Amino acid sequence: MKLADPYDFAAMLVDLNTLARPRFCVMDGIVGMEGNGPRSGVLRKLNVLLFSTDPIALDATACRIINLDPEVVPTAKLGGKAGLGTYHSENIELVGEGIDSFVCHDFDVIRTPPDHCSRSRARAFIKNRLCERPVIDGVKCTNCGTCVKMCPVDPKAVDWRQGDESQPPTHNYDRCIRCYCCQETCPEGAVFTQTPLLGRILSP
Ligand code: SF4
Ligand code: SF4
Repeated sequence: MKLADPYDFAAMLVDLNTLARPRFCVMDGIVGMEGNGPRSGVLRKLNVLLFSTDPIALDATACRIINLDPEVVPTAKLGGKAGLGTYHSENIELVGEGIDSFVCHDFDVIRTPPDHCSRSRARAFIKNRLCERPVIDGVKCTNCGTCVKMCPVDPKAVDWRQGDESQPPTHNYDRCIRCYCCQETCPEGAVFTQTPLLGRILSP
C-alpha cells in the first residue's frame, strides 16, 4: 500500500531496473497463467521462451503474444521514457519463429489501463474503500491456515475469528497492507481480489 497507485508501483519497478540494469532478460512462457494471477489463475500453454537485452521490448513482445497492447502497461511507457528500452514494435527486431504462431487472442487479461489509486493523506481511509482487497471464498477454503501463517503483518491481517480454526479465516482490512501473499500462497485458490463497492462506483 506504500505504492498503492499502479503507476507509482510501475515507476518503482522502472527505478529498480534502472539501478540494477539487467544485461539479459529471460521470460519463461512455456506455460503462462491467465485470470486471477499470480497464483490462482488458470494455466495456459503458450510454448514460448523470450530472451532480450531490452526488458521493455521483452515485456512488450510478451504483451503482444497475449493480445495485450503494451501501451496500457504502465511499465512499458515509463520504462521507455527512462531509457530502459522500447515497446514500439517497429523498433523491435524479432528473431526465431514468427510471433504470429504464438499469439493467444483470447488470453484472459484485463485490456484497459489500470485505474489510479489515491495518493492523498487519506490513503488509509481510501485504500479500504477504493482499492482491491483480498477476499476468501468460504466454499473453496479448507481452513488449512496457510494464509494466516504467510501474512507478514503483526498482528495478522488475516486470522481465525476468535481462534476458531473450524471456520475460514477473516481479513482485517485496516491492518492489511495489500501485499496479496494470502492470495498467492493459498493452495486452494480460495482467495480472490475484489474492488469494494465505492471503488467500483467511482471507477471511471
Ligand atoms: S494481503 Fe497481505 S497483509 Fe493483507 S491479509 Fe493478505 S497476506 Fe496479510
Ligand atoms: S490458505 Fe486458502 S484454504 Fe487455507 S485457510 Fe487460507 S483461504 Fe482457506
